[in-house]
Amino acid sequence: MEKTELIGLSKDELAAQIEAIGEKPFRAKQLWQWIYYRGETDFEKMSNLSKDLRAKLAEHFTITRPKIVTEQISSDKTHKWLLEFADGQRIETVYIPEEDRGAVCISTQVGCAVGCRFCHTGSQKITRNLTAGEIVSQFMVARDAYGEWPSPTSETRYLSNIVVMGMGEPLHNPDNVIKALKILSDGEGIAISKRRITLSTSGIAPKIPLVATELGVKLAISLHAPNDEKRSQIMPINDRFCIDEVLKACQKYQDVMGFSRMITFEYLMLKDFNDSPEDAKELIALMKKYKLGAKFNLIPFNPWPGCNYQPSSNNKVHAFSRMLEAAGYEAPIRVARGQDILAACGQLKSKNQ
Ligand code: SAH
Ligand code: SF4
Repeated sequence: MEKTELIGLSKDELAAQIEAIGEKPFRAKQLWQWIYYRGETDFEKMSNLSKDLRAKLAEHFTITRPKIVTEQISSDKTHKWLLEFADGQRIETVYIPEEDRGAVCISTQVGCAVGCRFCHTGSQKITRNLTAGEIVSQFMVARDAYGEWPSPTSETRYLSNIVVMGMGEPLHNPDNVIKALKILSDGEGIAISKRRITLSTSGIAPKIPLVATELGVKLAISLHAPNDEKRSQIMPINDRFCIDEVLKACQKYQDVMGFSRMITFEYLMLKDFNDSPEDAKELIALMKKYKLGAKFNLIPFNPWPGCNYQPSSNNKVHAFSRMLEAAGYEAPIRVARGQDILAACGQLKSKNQ
């Protein structure tokens, strides 16, 4: 008999599994706490369950972590794991520590079908979607490494935030991503608050409202250009969903979440392509037109072997930021983290090459 993996089941699905082996529903609640609050992977150690029940659970179920293939820590303490799943497929997960907290950057697909020209992941094509369990277990691996079990109170934890900004386009895999984020934010388990989770998308317009209606997490849009002509050159997805469609979908997100729930527009600074004062002016006009509660995140381009773009100069990035700020938008410049171990944005991949 094949055993059922428990990581990634919704609360209702877990209850159904427990019922199917003839146990009472409250056992599912206990099991949920062992798995997601305490991080336990061994049924034998679940001390408030009887010996017989522990044996029965082990007979029917598994609680699996992905295999850690390699693990690297950069000079700035950014921590990257290359993880392998049961079928041999690999992805990367990154922990980006700040002073007294930090974000875990999780992947949602093996490769990515969007194929943005500046992105290392996008140069790899898509192999498959990750399951909800595979998405959730990335965060659990990070918690294992820092010993943050049982779930600490939100003020005292180092792994405080989640950014869905690793490999893959989350809204090409919305069902599994939604299921995973519901598990990760569940108050009786891992309990990362929805205000501390950010989903970043290249702009799959019809799915964007789901981020508000199904999840209520923060939204980031990879915009990267002030008009369709330029955006299509670097992001082929723009021919499918143009800027107008994406920004209208953002309005729907804010209709549900409220105007004060700012949307972050990520803007990659590419030398002599989108980094001039004219580009900044056009971007500001675009934002004013759609009346969004918006802020920017200016991203210095992280080169990778074989890419065709160059990062903008520091001066240009700062001038660009000042123009956006003068127009009333926050526009911090992202500090690249973990570059020496290829853990920075757009550098993740599934093969060592
Ligand atoms: N697929 C989603 C989420 C993952 S990418 C998306 O595109 O939004 C996370 C962020 O890294 C995106 O804003 C992406 O545009 C950016 N990125 C990709 N390649 C990069 C590179 N080489 N340097 C810096 N940022 C990059
Ligand atoms: Fe995919 Fe995001 Fe990379 Fe584009 S930037 S190829 S959407 S992972």
